[in-house]
Amino acid sequence: MPGLFVGDPTPTKPPMPELPEVETTRRGIEPHAVGHRIVELRLYERRLRWRVQDDLPDLVAGQRILHAKRRAKYLLLELESGTLVLHLGMSGSLRVLPADMPLVPHDHFDLVLDSGNTLRFNDPRRFGSLHYTSGDPNEHPLLAKLAPEPLDAAFNADYLWRVTRRRRVAIKQLLMNSRLVVGVGNIYASEALFKAKVRPKRQARNLTRVEVTRLVRAVKSVLAMAIRVGGTTLRDYVGADGQPGYFRQKLFVYERDTQPCRACSTPVRQLTQGQRSTYYCPTCQK
Ligand SMILES: [Zn+2]
Repeated sequence: MPGLFVGDPTPTKPPMPELPEVETTRRGIEPHAVGHRIVELRLYERRLRWRVQDDLPDLVAGQRILHAKRRAKYLLLELESGTLVLHLGMSGSLRVLPADMPLVPHDHFDLVLDSGNTLRFNDPRRFGSLHYTSGDPNEHPLLAKLAPEPLDAAFNADYLWRVTRRRRVAIKQLLMNSRLVVGVGNIYASEALFKAKVRPKRQARNLTRVEVTRLVRAVKSVLAMAIRVGGTTLRDYVGADGQPGYFRQKLFVYERDTQPCRACSTPVRQLTQGQRSTYYCPTCQK
């Protein structure tokens, strides 16, 4: 069947999906989902991060999927009436599979389509979620207060300059604060700071205007690159089409401690910030 991709049905321990992985998933499922009708929602486990509402199978049965969108790390499947709001949580994956593919442990629901395929959700840790809203999804309580998307025009040098001025917090932690900008996780914050030549522990308010401008550009280019190559290849992360991404080989500092910096050969250093590991080059980053 040309164009059909079959995911590996037994994903094991995928790392937390970040924005590029969610966008990669969206792009992977879009051609197989949009325009198709949902034959049936089969729920095998309602107890996700929040309990899935009991009447959801009735609400979505027979509806056509009109669009597959993303807001922050939420996948939005717009239906003829209402929208499904899906979060992959810490370990979730959504794959396109033939509907008759046998289930494996941690498969929690199937969105069976009229094409004979299914969108199958697997999530060992069950921090993922599935909601339905009949109104504007951007008004849904989970989405209404989200900060700007890093790839949108609203995340620009003026904005980052404004939000950094009074904050003593380390710049890396500010970048990872989803109330200020959504979807910049640990890997991408570390890589963007390297690219912008800024040390992760610098106080946000002490960055110069030039550094803030460089950092905004770096965040956008690091995320765009990761999306282009299909998310990170961290261990066994597998995209919607079952193919690993190719971002891993392009990382400059993340998990490269003691290895030579790709720009200047100084050994990359690791430190701990907010219980997360941070990596930087003491020569390239000021
Ligand atoms: Zn260096």
